[in-house]
Amino acid sequence: MDPVTARRGLMLILTSPSGAGKSTLTRQLLQEETDIALSVSVTTRPRRKDEIDKVHYHFIDQQRFLRMREAGELLEWAEVHGNFYGTPRQPVEDALSAGKDVLFDIDVAGVRQLAEMVREDMATVFLLPPSVAEQIARLRRRASDEEASILRRLKTARDEIGHWSDFDYILVNDDLGRAFSELRAILHAERLKQRRRPKLEALIAQLADDLDRVLDAGSLSGFGPSPP
Ligand code: ADP
Ligand code: 5GP
Repeated sequence: MDPVTARRGLMLILTSPSGAGKSTLTRQLLQEETDIALSVSVTTRPRRKDEIDKVHYHFIDQQRFLRMREAGELLEWAEVHGNFYGTPRQPVEDALSAGKDVLFDIDVAGVRQLAEMVREDMATVFLLPPSVAEQIARLRRRASDEEASILRRLKTARDEIGHWSDFDYILVNDDLGRAFSELRAILHAERLKQRRRPKLEALIAQLADDLDRVLDAGSLSGFGPSPP
């Protein structure tokens, strides 16, 4: 791999109160960016009509979830609205060591668990709706949830919103196009972080050697093309 571009993969974590637009942005990012894959969680929640098993989630029963958890096969897990969710460990570790980026759609509790283990690999983004009225309108528009379920999601949102300052980046999803460009900018900038690019040491050493040679010679002749 080219040492200038070679790097360890990063974990891009997108968290938001329900109805802020996280699924929409996740879908767009996966469509537009080829070098990032979604971490597909396991969940005990029933599948919604528009969801595909193994694409949106691995839908499993509670017994299997508990077995995976006991066996240490989950990087993190949480209980949300009475259902279990968790991140399978192996696919994430394989992707990161192969230099591939992984996108996570997980809740605040999951982010906290990951931060205790792999903070250096993470870039965390908290997405907010522009207002509660708009958030409710979006949840209603999605139409897959009933009023009681929307109220439960808003209660969780109230708890989660207090954790906003734990995140590296905050996006307000007022205009979808702008929020998407901002999310993309975060991904691109995070890829260039110094700590993800240990292979650049060889280039730095070469630049330093060449500069020493030029400076020791005290002349530019023989270095680079001559001026016209
Ligand atoms: P979340 O995954 O955060 O719960 P979704 O991505 O499912 O939210 O979005 C909820 C609804 O709001 C969807 O119908 C989506 O099309 C819509 N939506 C998302 N972002 C915007 C936006 N910036 N403006 C208007 N509607 C939006
Ligand atoms: P939903 O049921 O709407 O798909 O997801 C409910 C919540 O569970 C969302 O906040 C989502 O981010 C979170 N979630 C989904 N998968 C995981 C996971 O693997 N771990 C954790 N901690 N949260 C998850």
